[in-house]
Amino acid sequence: MYFIADLHTLTTLKDPAKLQGNLIEMVKDYLAAGLDPEKSIIYTQSSIPEIPELSLYLSMVQPLGELLLTPTYKDLVRKNPDRVSLGLVTYPVLMAADILAPQATLIPVGEDQVPNVETARGIARRFNERFGDTFTIPEMISEMVKVPGLDGEKMGKSEADNAIDINDPMEVIASRYRRFGVTDKGRVSKTDLGNPYECKSIYPVHELITTGEVDTRTIAGQCQRAEIGCADCKMLLIEQLRVLLEPFQERRRELAEKTDDVIEILHEGGKKARAIIVPTVELVRDRMGIRIY
Ligand code: SF4
Repeated sequence: MYFIADLHTLTTLKDPAKLQGNLIEMVKDYLAAGLDPEKSIIYTQSSIPEIPELSLYLSMVQPLGELLLTPTYKDLVRKNPDRVSLGLVTYPVLMAADILAPQATLIPVGEDQVPNVETARGIARRFNERFGDTFTIPEMISEMVKVPGLDGEKMGKSEADNAIDINDPMEVIASRYRRFGVTDKGRVSKTDLGNPYECKSIYPVHELITTGEVDTRTIAGQCQRAEIGCADCKMLLIEQLRVLLEPFQERRRELAEKTDDVIEILHEGGKKARAIIVPTVELVRDRMGIRIY
């Protein structure tokens, strides 16, 4: 099940007009990257009104104090001190509803979201203890891939201008890596011995996408012996990215005019997801003594 957390985006919403368009473009990215709607359920959070309903029920077993200590919440407050809404505080509870509603067993999760999944696990345990076995306690997929941004920090569009847009022309991607990619700061000239593990945004991406690098450490060795300069190393990376991204971009271009198909996929995905989620929410209502007349 793959979904787009459009309700969550409201916590940092800047431009409502862009929300719908961005959502459709994101689904086109998913499809171009290989998601198959015949095999996967692709849906939006807002297609399932039972998700925010479940979030309300779950909020009754979640202590407020814990939410205020969540690292992701504290981080967001630090970055946006004048935009702290109740929705931001209860963000992890809505996320718990996303996870628990379909009785998810396994969650792939980025490093920064681990505390939020822990909150979901805690809510499930607490609810089960108080109201009887209702939720599966989900596990996390422990092998996490972190794609660094150009500055070496987590790649993201909202906080810093450090992202690579996979739909940008290759020349733009290449230029951004050439100009802004952060290498080993201790390596001032090409003859200096380098340390690839101090290289913030080039070598970590080689490790992710350059065929055989993790097994052979070829580029790492060349860097350490000063046999390769940073400019050439960036060029190698750009070539690897070209191999990876060009087929994706080709599929993405084919999808550009297929917005109606995407809307249909989301519509069907919403129906399938709802069929899975509604029985859980009915069970929760029943356990909590809520009957809809
Ligand atoms: Fe990074 Fe490559 Fe330069 Fe080494 S040679 S510091 S791995 S960019």
